[in-house]
Amino acid sequence: MKRIILAFIILFGIPLLGVAQTATTETRAVWVDKSDLFKEQAHLTELLNDLHEANFNTVYVATYFRGYVAYPNSQHLPQYPEMKEKNILSWLIGETHKRGMCAEAWMEYGFYAFHTPDASKTTSRGVLLDKFPQLTAINQAGGLYLHRDRWGDFYSLCPSNPKSHVLLTNIFLEAIQLNPFDGINLDRIRYPTEEFCFCSYCKEQFQKDTGLELRPFPPESSARKTWDYWRKRQTERFIAGLAKQLRSARPGITITSAVVPPGEMDSKGQGWYGWLRNGYIDAAVPMLYQAGQLDANLKTIRRAVGPHAKIICGLNEDDVKPESLVNQITIARGYQCQGIAIWYSGAIEDDLPFLSSGPFSNPAVPLFRPLTK
Ligand SMILES: [Zn+2]
Repeated sequence: MKRIILAFIILFGIPLLGVAQTATTETRAVWVDKSDLFKEQAHLTELLNDLHEANFNTVYVATYFRGYVAYPNSQHLPQYPEMKEKNILSWLIGETHKRGMCAEAWMEYGFYAFHTPDASKTTSRGVLLDKFPQLTAINQAGGLYLHRDRWGDFYSLCPSNPKSHVLLTNIFLEAIQLNPFDGINLDRIRYPTEEFCFCSYCKEQFQKDTGLELRPFPPESSARKTWDYWRKRQTERFIAGLAKQLRSARPGITITSAVVPPGEMDSKGQGWYGWLRNGYIDAAVPMLYQAGQLDANLKTIRRAVGPHAKIICGLNEDDVKPESLVNQITIARGYQCQGIAIWYSGAIEDDLPFLSSGPFSNPAVPLFRPLTK
C-alpha cells in the first residue's frame, strides 16, 4: 500500500504541486522595431534570448511601415528594401515560439501610407496613394501630408473613406495569412491630427450624415463635438469590419491595438473605449509615455472602461532611467493593468537587469496564448 501511495505521489503529486502554484498572468511585451529586423539574425537571436531571460513573454514585430511590408511576396505592397528580400518574419516567429513567447504583427503605420524625409523632394506619395491619390487625407489648409520636424513627412489614407478601409483590411489580412503570427497589434487607426480630414469624401459624407457643412469648427462648439464624434465613428466602423474579417481568416487570433492617451481621443478621432466595450479588440495598449501623467491617465481610463477591461499599459523606456520604468510598472499594476508593453527593442538592453531583478523577477503567462495553427 505504501508503495502504491508513493507511486501516486510521484506520478501525480509533483505535477499537482506545480499547478497549485498558480503562475501570474501578465502580458510583458516589447515593440520590436524595424531597425532590429535589418540587422543580422544573430542580433535578433540575442535580443530574443535576453527578453526571454528577463521574463518577457510577447513581442510586437514591425510588419507594416512606411508604405512597405517586412515580408516578401505581398500582393499589395513592396517589401521594404532594407529587408533584402529575406523572409525573416517566419523564422523570427518560430524562434519566439521556441522560447514559449507570443508574436503579434505590429501594423505600425495604420492609416499612414507613406513616409518621406522631405515631401518637397519627391512626387511619390507611396505605392498605395500613387495608385489611389483620391484617398489621400487632406488637412484643413489643403495640405496633403503631416510634417514632423524630427521625423519628416507622413502621408495618410483618408481614415473615413470605405475604400481606404478595404485597402488596409486586405493588407492586414495578408500579413496574418502569410505569417504565422499569434496576434495582430494595430497602430495609428486614427487621423494624423485634429486638422484632418478635409478631403472631398469627408466633406460630402459629413454633410450627408450631420447636415453641417464641413469647415474648421471652434473648439468646444457643438459643431466641433459633432465633428469629433463623427470621426470616431469612422475609425470604429473600420475596426468593427476589420476585426470580423481577421477573426474569420484566423479564428482565435488576438487583436490588440496601440492607442492614444485619453486626452488625444477627440483630436485623433480614436474612440477606443468603444472598441474594447464592443469586443472589436481583445486588449487596448494605450501609449502612456508621459511618466508624469501616468497615474492620472490610468485613473481616467479605468473610470471609463471599468476594472476588468483588458489594458496593456504602454510605457516608453527610451530616454527614461530604468528606476523610473520600474516605478511606472508598479503604478500600472496598481490600476489592474493586465500587461505592460514597452517601447522599444532598440534601447531596452540597459533596462533588462532592472526588470529581471525587479518587477519581472518571476515568469508570467501572457494574457493571450500562442495560436496553435
Ligand atoms: Zn477624408
